[in-house]
Amino acid sequence: MNKPLKQHLIDPEICIRCYTCEMTCPVEAITHDDNNVVVDAEKCDFCMDCIPVCPTGSIDEWRVVNTPYSLEEQFSWEDLPAQGDVGTSAAQGGSVEALDDAMEALLAEAHKGAGGKSKAPASAAKPTVNMYNLGKPAIAKVQGNYRLTSTESGSDVRHLILEFGGQPFPVLEGQSIGIIPPGLDANGKPHLPRLYSVSSPRDGERPNFNNLSLTVKREEQGLCSNYVCDLKIGDEVRVTGPFGATFLMPEDPAARLLMVCTGTGAAPFRGFTMRRQRAAAGASGDMVMFFGARAPDSLPYFGPLNKVPDRLLKKHLVFSRIPGVEKEYVQDRMMVEQEVVANLLADPKTHIYICGLRGMEQGVELAFKNIAESTGLGWEATRDAMRDEGRYHVETY
Ligand code: NAP
Repeated sequence: MNKPLKQHLIDPEICIRCYTCEMTCPVEAITHDDNNVVVDAEKCDFCMDCIPVCPTGSIDEWRVVNTPYSLEEQFSWEDLPAQGDVGTSAAQGGSVEALDDAMEALLAEAHKGAGGKSKAPASAAKPTVNMYNLGKPAIAKVQGNYRLTSTESGSDVRHLILEFGGQPFPVLEGQSIGIIPPGLDANGKPHLPRLYSVSSPRDGERPNFNNLSLTVKREEQGLCSNYVCDLKIGDEVRVTGPFGATFLMPEDPAARLLMVCTGTGAAPFRGFTMRRQRAAAGASGDMVMFFGARAPDSLPYFGPLNKVPDRLLKKHLVFSRIPGVEKEYVQDRMMVEQEVVANLLADPKTHIYICGLRGMEQGVELAFKNIAESTGLGWEATRDAMRDEGRYHVETY
């Protein structure tokens, strides 16, 4: 019999197919087919470089096995096999205890990045994932493409509306879709899809239409962002997904939402807000948003956001590049509003969502830590408990 060994796996249900792990792996142990992103047990040397770059924590799965799962087996999975299903003897019932000390230390370090392993809110609706893939994408038609930011701002952020006609494409707020840019890469292979958060609610950008919206910023060198930002009404787009099974809204109308975002990271929170507006207008749980952009004319949805009543959404819009005004980041405003944040942190009904630039994570965590500790709460313990209860979510790139 083979000696039991640790195998690194990726949870196909939670993975959002951003392929960042594949691009990061220094030994090319991570690969994909049309369906899944998987780890080759023969190549993986447990360097852990892929763990902190994963936005969902789906990369952080381990099983003790007698015989490693093959690539073919992993490609076919819709969800991960439980540890108990594995192997024949020693591996049965084997678990994290079987990991050696060095591995545990590495994992503990890795979990510090990317917000650790995320869980869906207990009351969230069940998401549909991975319905369309690289080999079988949905074909959507562009219904609208509107610029959200001024020409003078130097930032071209677009509101895209995609329509799916008769193809079922069920999404929940907070989920993402992939867009496959046309053409081939430098190696003559089709381009991988690029991920965008859906910015409309589950019942459509227009209620009861089979459409959804995205919020996309044109990046100077961005292959897909330029393709998307230049799309015209009626153009056809190849779409994969939907993806994401944890960054979801609670259904509970008493749940309180604290949303922290920068730039286009506001996309999912537009969906959250519209969902509450449409489906739970009288919800007792409040929504508080800290949203950072360079200036009002580069903050996506600045006008419409200001029209959302405070009783539904309390907005703290902060700006970093207004001439003559001191730079302000979301974490600075959180400190100014620390009583509001402390009140939310102390409430078991509160769900925290952080979305946007990866660089903001550290500053936002520090603000939470200062605020929590000023009220006698240990931040790490509070955050980890919230994460385990599906109440702490991070999606940063
Ligand atoms: P951006 O305009 O570059 O930045 C937005 C604001 O964040 C600016 O005020 C910026 O200030 C500030 N900022 C920079 N570093 C910060 C830090 N360390 N802490 C706090 N604030 C900081 O943003 P963007 O280009 O729109 O990028 C948004 C990010 O969201 C991207 O990484 C994108 O991939 C990600 N995202 C997008 C979606 C989507 O669906 N579109 C979904 C999820 C995540 P400065 O003046 O200092 O630059």
